[in-house]
Amino acid sequence: MSDEQGADRHKDKALYEHYCDHSDCTKWGGLGFAAGKDEPRWFCFEHRPEWKGR
Ligand SMILES: [Zn+2]
Repeated sequence: MSDEQGADRHKDKALYEHYCDHSDCTKWGGLGFAAGKDEPRWFCFEHRPEWKGR
């Protein structure tokens, strides 16, 4: 079970350390965009996609 816990911890870290998804951008991705069941993608304010929510 220890392996499984390690994986969970790694996953948690990935969730917290989300930088802008734009290539070459190292800014903090404070804006998360999730479409359906896809993994949420994170962008900084500059690179955020046009989000046309309903
Ligand atoms: Zn960016």
